[in-house]
Amino acid sequence: MPELPEVEAKRRYIERTSLGRRITRVKVFDERILEDVSPRSLSRRLSGSEFEQVKRRAKFLLITTSADRTLLMHFGMTGDVLFDEEGHEHPTSDRADFEFADRSVLHFTDHRLFGRIALYDTIDENGVPDIAKLGPEPLDRSFTLKRFKEVLARRNTTIHQVLMDQELIAGIGNIYSDEICYQAGVRPDRKPRDLSEAEIGKLFDKMKWTLRRAVELDADLDDHADVFLIPNRGKGGICPHGHALESKTIGGRTSWFCPTDQK
Ligand SMILES: [Zn+2]
Repeated sequence: MPELPEVEAKRRYIERTSLGRRITRVKVFDERILEDVSPRSLSRRLSGSEFEQVKRRAKFLLITTSADRTLLMHFGMTGDVLFDEEGHEHPTSDRADFEFADRSVLHFTDHRLFGRIALYDTIDENGVPDIAKLGPEPLDRSFTLKRFKEVLARRNTTIHQVLMDQELIAGIGNIYSDEICYQAGVRPDRKPRDLSEAEIGKLFDKMKWTLRRAVELDADLDDHADVFLIPNRGKGGICPHGHALESKTIGGRTSWFCPTDQK
């Protein structure tokens, strides 16, 4: 499932490929990805304008248009975008095509259909309901150790559940929570109130480091299995230090950790 680093990679991709092109129409192949907008309305309200800017907030992309609208994209489990200069072929699981005047196309693909597209007649992100209720961005400078401690104090659940709660900290899911806990040497099933000052400091530093490094690597950690848990995560997996991983269901999600390195 795309989390902050993956969605940031998609943001850069759209920024690189799709800004400043005049939209001629939008074709929707499966209405289930649309939220509160019909295919006809989506196409009508985007046609004639351009994508001007693409921002990321948590796991959402907000694409503002020259007509002062905001196209919201959420990638669910398997959502993705694919830019096609020629616009000849539909990729697998193509759900919507944004067609540009120069014949190029931005495809929105989503095999499992948990992704979503919505359109708002505003460029103010506070006018977008999904965005308004999100917690702070973990990579923002304003998200300090002091604020992290305040967030931890607000819930009496496990550290894994706190990290994944979008209203507390935005953009981290099951996979990156596991990574952050591994890097910090803290078991994901610990309660924040049982953590020492040093452990909280380490979690905070490793949260910033992990997300920043993953963004630098465009969320492709496969060549870094000697540093990250993520490429090793799963049944039969071993941690970068060679220990067998264990799993545990926490808050309804399967978490993987190293019982040797994480206390
Ligand atoms: Zn280990």
